[in-house]
Amino acid sequence: MSNPKNKHKSNTKGKWYCTDPDDEDGEGCIACSVCYSGAPDFFASDDHGNAYVYKQPTTDEEIELCQEQLELCPVNSIGRDAPEE
Ligand code: SF4
Repeated sequence: MSNPKNKHKSNTKGKWYCTDPDDEDGEGCIACSVCYSGAPDFFASDDHGNAYVYKQPTTDEEIELCQEQLELCPVNSIGRDAPEE
């Protein structure tokens, strides 16, 4: 589970987030590029290749795409604050 207390500072405001690469729990982004390659409308990379949420998903289709990235992230760096209703 991603650490909601260690969010990347560039995440756009909203439920979805990526964690900072310096996460002490070892679940910080490792810049593997999976999420911002798979869903470039919602995830972007900073100057170090680490991911942050660029745009929050709103439609079921968008949420499903972001959920796929969450499940594919090798270090559980993607999270969301509460389940979508
Ligand atoms: S999939 Fe995870 S580790 Fe890879 S760039 Fe995205 S947040 Fe970082």
